[in-house]
Amino acid sequence: MKTLFVSAETDPRETRVAVTPTDAKKLGKLGWAVKVCRGAGVKAGFSDAQYSEAGAEIADSGEAGAADFVVGVRKPSADDVAKLKKGSFHLSLLDPFNEKALIKAFADAGVTAASFEMIPRSTIAQKMDVLSSQSNLAGYCAVLKAATSINKIAPMMMTPAGTISPLKFFIVGVGVAGLQAIATAKRIGARVEAFDTRPVVEEQVKSLGAKFVKIDLGETGQTAQGYAKALTPEQIELQRKGMAKVCAQADVVITTAKLFGRKAPVIITAEMVAGMKPGSVVVDMAVESGGNVEGSKPDETVISPNGVMIIGNTCLEASVPATASQMYGANVYNFIEHFTSDGEFRVNMEDPIMKSCVVARDGKITDERFM
Ligand code: NAD
Repeated sequence: MKTLFVSAETDPRETRVAVTPTDAKKLGKLGWAVKVCRGAGVKAGFSDAQYSEAGAEIADSGEAGAADFVVGVRKPSADDVAKLKKGSFHLSLLDPFNEKALIKAFADAGVTAASFEMIPRSTIAQKMDVLSSQSNLAGYCAVLKAATSINKIAPMMMTPAGTISPLKFFIVGVGVAGLQAIATAKRIGARVEAFDTRPVVEEQVKSLGAKFVKIDLGETGQTAQGYAKALTPEQIELQRKGMAKVCAQADVVITTAKLFGRKAPVIITAEMVAGMKPGSVVVDMAVESGGNVEGSKPDETVISPNGVMIIGNTCLEASVPATASQMYGANVYNFIEHFTSDGEFRVNMEDPIMKSCVVARDGKITDERFM
């Protein structure tokens, strides 16, 4: 029987676990001997006892080195990779565009490394798409974070003490996180406007009952995978001009504008922040990849000179770790189940999903972008 090891996350900010007790049970039924690192699920609300009841064995971190399959949420250290078994399979969020040395460490160790970020955004791969499942939650969390940080209430209220206007939210970037942010802001009663450089998004924004802010940037478009293309400096300038007035009137601005594998564009300048109302709140969801907002800092809240709160949380979904782990774990299970045939997990490099997400195999880096 092959062994699957569930790592405990070592980053102190991380609260999620890659496999929940429910998934551990399902993986057992699929034929795996599941070992879970002691305490791995505690921060997400899953005790070692729950994993044991689900049929998993509680193990020490060193046992990862004997496993056939190791799964985690965040990337391991190069030292940990060196201890993995030759021929084993590793799956987590490897951040490959920024971690070339780590990808080389996998190749050197003879471990097959699969990066969840590289799963294609196709219909068939949706069930194992961690970027989507976690961005969806992050979009929800961003709205709640803003709503509980601002000094006003979100919905309109007509009371004997007067009428309270609804909060105005402006969502910049309408991918998975942005769509959920729009839906959540609408649910709490806010008035919502949104903008994205991909014109196809306008219909989706409208269907959620929000207003699409029109800014003519000329040719923008998207890649074959649906990711935004980088704008020219002139287009960025046009975008900033077009957005400044909307930001000035907004109570909350949430930015989610990312460029896959590249630094995020700075689209809200210090000048635009200076034009916003004191007490308003900005959540920069792209802060980890460089930030959309000038002055935002990873995992810090900054107050601008004119009293605008800029929140730079890098992992909003970690604030709902039970749900985030439930979704992440389902993605992990679906990945393994998808590639299991005749009771055996098979690494089929002809398969477009496997080919896309495997970044190291047989002692080599398989994607030249990470060499
Ligand atoms: P992302 O996190 O890469 O970017 C977030 C959003 O920011 C995107 O909508 C992007 O267009 C936008 N953006 C980039 N630069 C901008 C700028 N200067 N100003 C304003 N907005 C800007 O996006 P994502 O959520 O990962 O989604 C990427 C694509 O994948 C989308 O087309 C999405 O619909 C698609 N997708 C498809 C599936 C599927 O079919 N299975 C699943 C998930 C996502």
